[in-house]
Amino acid sequence: MDVGIDAGGTLIKVAYTQKGKVHFEKYPIAEIEQVAHWVNKLDDCQVCVTGGKSGVLISLLDRPAQEMMEFEATHLGVQVLLEESGDLEDAYLITNVGTGTSIHCIQDNAQERLGGTGVGGGTLIGLSHLLTGVTHYDEIIALASQGSRDRIDLKVKHIYEGKEPPIPGELTASNFGQNFLAISDELTTEELLATVIGLVGETVSTVSVQAARQCRSSTIVYIGSSFIDNPLLKEVVTSYTILRGSVPVFPKNGEYSGAVGAMSAI
Ligand code: ADP
Repeated sequence: MDVGIDAGGTLIKVAYTQKGKVHFEKYPIAEIEQVAHWVNKLDDCQVCVTGGKSGVLISLLDRPAQEMMEFEATHLGVQVLLEESGDLEDAYLITNVGTGTSIHCIQDNAQERLGGTGVGGGTLIGLSHLLTGVTHYDEIIALASQGSRDRIDLKVKHIYEGKEPPIPGELTASNFGQNFLAISDELTTEELLATVIGLVGETVSTVSVQAARQCRSSTIVYIGSSFIDNPLLKEVVTSYTILRGSVPVFPKNGEYSGAVGAMSAI
């Protein structure tokens, strides 16, 4: 059995083969000891670990494990997932929206990190909690999908009232930028959460599209657990990416890219 583990800032992602089939599991980082215990109990297996918490996990293992640099694991895993779906291109960008966001250019079979932003899945949870008191990821994304950003975000068309704007009027001029002080008590949890997701989605896609200028491709492969069961974030990222002239791709099981890469390196 081959086991690839991506131990990140928030979640531990596991990919393993059993009877020729690949299985995927995820656990909160707080359960790192339980994951180590599961690995320690396996009979016949080879393990490769990646991610920021790989050192902690390896220290809890009582068997030898390979360690892989996380950007290399992500690159390899994305390559495997895109090959499986028939979407692999020579050059593309990877935007990994994990706890934070990291952007990579893949060309000539090598990955180069172009940059990133601290706005990511951690922002989604942290800001949502501070604004509304809602704590759990599942609840945040379910409520957000019922909300509207119309009363909170300021669009370009709101500024260019009665005049043709020089850029598309539907673009957000300022996230949380409307003059809503008089109605701030009326704003619902759903509206606030939808606007947080808008902020995260527009930030990661804007930074990605700008980074694409440094890469030979305008295809942006979006991965990371922030997209799990999160159609609103996918929708914001998709429309912003297309509006700015790039092509978004969301590979199946993209949140397991690091784990798949680690497993494939064994
Ligand atoms: P990392 O490798 O840094 O842990 P991930 O790619 O796993 O990053 O993404 C972490 C983000 O995924 C969280 O910040 C959160 O927005 C989102 N997420 C998805 N599912 C969950 C969950 N069950 N619990 C907490 N966060 C989740």
